[in-house]
Amino acid sequence: MLVILGVIAFSLFGYCSKRSVNPITGETQYVSMTVDQEIALGLQAKDEMASQYGDFEEGTAAASLVNEVGHELLQNSDAGRSSYRFEFHLLQDPKTINAFALPGGQVFITRALLDRLQTRGQLAGVLGHEIGHVIARHGAQQMAKAELSQGITGAMVMGAYDPSDPKGAAGVAMVQLISKAVNLKFGRNDELQSDKLGVRFMSQSGYDPRAMIGVMKILEQAGGGGRQPEFFSTHPNPENRIDRIKTAINEYFPNGLPSGLKP
Ligand SMILES: [Zn+2]
Repeated sequence: MLVILGVIAFSLFGYCSKRSVNPITGETQYVSMTVDQEIALGLQAKDEMASQYGDFEEGTAAASLVNEVGHELLQNSDAGRSSYRFEFHLLQDPKTINAFALPGGQVFITRALLDRLQTRGQLAGVLGHEIGHVIARHGAQQMAKAELSQGITGAMVMGAYDPSDPKGAAGVAMVQLISKAVNLKFGRNDELQSDKLGVRFMSQSGYDPRAMIGVMKILEQAGGGGRQPEFFSTHPNPENRIDRIKTAINEYFPNGLPSGLKP
């Protein structure tokens, strides 16, 4: 009995205490899932995300634009140095104003949000923010905090999952894990960090980072009728978010903004 308990404790210890330094944010993190497991989970969960938000819009000019701007950010900023496998999706939902990121690099924006954006730089701001969530591993951190009902971790599910046996115990746990991933809610500090990372990635890609302030104003206006855009329910809206973005811009460009930035 003691031996068994010891083995369980040892494996839990192994899962819970993987200390790593994030190569892009420089933070020391304790995340149980490996990067490969995060990528696999994102791929497993992306269709569930699509089914909740009106399915993927594919093959249109708007879908190509989302993909193009996403990859432009990866090619020109520190975001491209990560090992995540990014995909940028447009979701057809015409009502839900939102953008999402799953662990591992699946990034989504809804039609309702895309249609409200006025410039390519604003799209870069939204996608840069979502890329920030992936790179800072906010999803994996949130899932490490929120244990599944049996007290097992995402890393254990991903480690035990056998695609050829989807009805087995690990398959059942996987369904739960996917639902967690799709319905993730980030905290205030996660949002502020992602805003800052978004400012960094879009600036490195030659975009005017003030477009990120424009995104926040568009979201505020969309909530003008009383009901807040869904973006704010999954993305808590600190009162001074715009001020913090301005501070991030000043930190990034201490000598002022250069000329010739893309709008
Ligand atoms: Zn966010």
